[in-house]
Amino acid sequence: MIVALPAVMPTYNRLPVAFTHGRGAWLWDRDGNRYLDALSGVAVNGLGHAHPKITAALSDQIARLIHASNLYVIPEQDELAELLVDISGMSQVFFANSGSEAVECAIKVARLYGHKQGNECPHIVVMEGAFHGRTLASLTATGNRAYQRGFEPLVDGFVRVPFGDLPAIERAAADHPNIAAVLLEIVQGEGGIRLCSAAYLRSLRALCDHHGWLLLYDEAQTGVGRTGEYFGFQHTGVRPDVMALAKGLASGLPMGACLVAGPAEGLFGPGNHGSTFGGNPLACIASLATFEVLRDEGLLRNAARQGDRILNSLTTWLAGTPGVVEIRGQGLMIGIELHRNCRELARTALSGGLLINVTADRVIRLLPPLIINDTEADEIVRRLVPLVEQFLSQTDDGEPMSSEADDRLCVRRATTS
Ligand code: PMP
Repeated sequence: MIVALPAVMPTYNRLPVAFTHGRGAWLWDRDGNRYLDALSGVAVNGLGHAHPKITAALSDQIARLIHASNLYVIPEQDELAELLVDISGMSQVFFANSGSEAVECAIKVARLYGHKQGNECPHIVVMEGAFHGRTLASLTATGNRAYQRGFEPLVDGFVRVPFGDLPAIERAAADHPNIAAVLLEIVQGEGGIRLCSAAYLRSLRALCDHHGWLLLYDEAQTGVGRTGEYFGFQHTGVRPDVMALAKGLASGLPMGACLVAGPAEGLFGPGNHGSTFGGNPLACIASLATFEVLRDEGLLRNAARQGDRILNSLTTWLAGTPGVVEIRGQGLMIGIELHRNCRELARTALSGGLLINVTADRVIRLLPPLIINDTEADEIVRRLVPLVEQFLSQTDDGEPMSSEADDRLCVRRATTS
């Protein structure tokens, strides 16, 4: 018997739902069922679905010009670069089409920087638990063996250390004289909403300055308002030399960007890097409209406020629930860590009309759109809490859990100063 292979490579374990349309924080499927979106296409649809300003800006642009080659001047790209530079304090931007590409660009900047300093084999320090993408260099930088297995040989020139551990970086410096940069997510997203302290970032900045290394932030997930500031690093004031952006940058149009500042600026010239689609007029218009809406609708403040609201009420409702290990987050990037694998909860929540995700096996991840209002924020909690309680009241094999398994709940917010 010949079994037909699926035409689409099955690289995702897809949940059994197909959405037809959305509005704000809500999505509808083919059968007319309505879902509250607490995931935003994994931090992409920051403005929710079908935001009228995005729809209008895109419709207008599509009717005029979708693509223009980077062989020509693209005024929309210049305008967006100036805006990004203005709100980030960085100096220059390269536009790509995804997070992985933005990280690849950051890696290339770091390597070129190393070479220009006479470092023939520049190495980059990367973190355990990190996620930076699926292209070969970004996959190598990713700290998850499961994603890398079978794709060896990986790329040379990376040194891995535990996240949040400064002495480990100092030891790496002693062992590897050719380090040129440190790359990290300031909140690890795929790794389970893992936070680091402002003090760690400050010390890391000082260490990089001391050694003449570049500090690279991957803000693909934390950027564009997600944590309550335009960029996550703005909570601490510890500016990187290179920053990768993606996901929410163009409200769903594929776009990534790599921003540079200080010692990393002015390195790339013609021929050093490129992209056919990167910075095309349509994606740039989507991004410009995104930032206009973020500003006009006060969405940074809203993200911070609704994030606190969700974190607080989750804490109230789940305090004392055995099996909840920690609730943590910054802005609308929230994780609920349970004591055991809870991957099945994404499917259970779907049946309950709620879109969530589970990452790092045990962490329920919430990334709601930045436009959610009080009622929707409360509704996320109202739908989620009983599912978590129900899940935790059962053991792995479906038996009710004994009350002795009482992990103490800990709540953590990112420190902002
Ligand atoms: N970096 C980070 C921090 C991410 O969260 C992701 C996506 N989850 C990526 C890079 C890769 O982005 P993309 O899938 O757009 O290549």
